[in-house]
Amino acid sequence: MARPSLDPENWPAFRASAQKMLEAALDKMEQAGEGAVWAPLPETLKRQMHASLPEQGVGMEKVQAQLEELLPFGVGNTHPRFFGWVHGSGGAASLLAEITAAAMNANLGGRDHGAIYVEKQVVAWVKEMFGFPAGASGLVVSGTSMATIVALKVARDAKLGARKVGVGAHRLVGYASSEAHNCINRAFDMLGLGSDALRAVPVNAAFEMDMPALRKMITADRAAGLEPFLLVGTAGTVNVGAFDDLDALADIAAAEGLWLHIDGAFGAAGVLSDILRPRLRGVERADSLAFDFHKWLHVNYDAGFVLVRDEGLHRAAFESAPDYLASAARGLAAGRPWPVDYGPELSRGFRALKVWAQITALGTEALGAAISRNCAQAKLLADMVDKEPSLERLAPVASSVVVFAHILGDVATEEIVLRLQENGVAVPSLTSVNGRKAVRVNITNHRTRNEDLRVFLAAVLASAR
Ligand SMILES: *Cc1c(COP(=O)(O)O)cnc(C)c1O
Repeated sequence: MARPSLDPENWPAFRASAQKMLEAALDKMEQAGEGAVWAPLPETLKRQMHASLPEQGVGMEKVQAQLEELLPFGVGNTHPRFFGWVHGSGGAASLLAEITAAAMNANLGGRDHGAIYVEKQVVAWVKEMFGFPAGASGLVVSGTSMATIVALKVARDAKLGARKVGVGAHRLVGYASSEAHNCINRAFDMLGLGSDALRAVPVNAAFEMDMPALRKMITADRAAGLEPFLLVGTAGTVNVGAFDDLDALADIAAAEGLWLHIDGAFGAAGVLSDILRPRLRGVERADSLAFDFHKWLHVNYDAGFVLVRDEGLHRAAFESAPDYLASAARGLAAGRPWPVDYGPELSRGFRALKVWAQITALGTEALGAAISRNCAQAKLLADMVDKEPSLERLAPVASSVVVFAHILGDVATEEIVLRLQENGVAVPSLTSVNGRKAVRVNITNHRTRNEDLRVFLAAVLASAR
């Protein structure tokens, strides 16, 4: 039987389901610290996700029940003892924003409507946060990986004007430290530059880019007929949380005529923190910056940002004007340039709303204080690790990351990580530092209390025994 529309046929029943769902979601968020940090999806639920394509729908009530069953089985990053990789822990403002965004179903590719003004507000705030000039531009994207592709495309086109003819015989090369995130390699690959064209500059004992080595590599590449065009600094390396000397990088970029891009995926948010702000000196001199709201600013997944110093160059890399996207001086098609003129996506969801809601609800002071608290907690955990004869710390603490090994070696270290994850007490992740397996604890978590660190360390020592 044909339905008149796809809307609920019984609104009172749908309201009841929606309110039930809201209560379940609120319970989940309010009780973030309860239960296992991570638990694998039970077999019964895995089987539910192996159904054949439904010809007949089951209705919203059954869907609501299934959604509620899924709630406990996330990554675990909402829990105060989630310390794996780099995840933000999310928050309540995103819930309100996502409800609103779901009801509006706005498309932020362009045009003149309320949602666009929210994104413009977010862009203006980001410029202010990082001390960028009025002529800068930006775009809310899925994350730093996408932000990096956008930024590096602007850099490539600023150098070559390669939009129509491609890079041809040019042999562009760029530089990032050996600790830089893999998303930069991937962007080189996707932009047709080839990932080999990204040079891995060695790091010093603090895991920061070695400046004399960088200078030598640039000179050698020029002598070999290559075209250096890009320098990438990292503000918060993913492995140990180190910060490159951004001011020194800005000096070299200026002297060598290179585009300076900063990967500040989690660390850039440190401009809001009294502890980390000094490490970001020089970020205001970058040509582009990529960072995430979903990491240390705790907006729910996903939300990242690309900031570009020169709006003209940014737009020149993406703007195009097919007939069906013609703009107008009045009406809904007014207000160009639109977000589509600054990035690859035409249809775009309303990510900006949860960013706006988070910053508006909490303010930069509370967001910065939560970052400072995490830095202090990383130092505290490092001190606790240093007091344990069976554990050995493998890197200095620069921000939120503590890495350490068990003295019995790689097998023991790996086993500690796996057992903690599997028994649900805490989630650290496993990495390698200077060739040794390491338990990696990253505290970008506004729910973590010092007591959680003690629980974690006790569990490490218990599983080692
Ligand atoms: C997380 C991270 C990225 C990738 O960001 P996504 O938002 O996951 O795409 C890049 N660089 C660093 C330093 C990171 O920590």
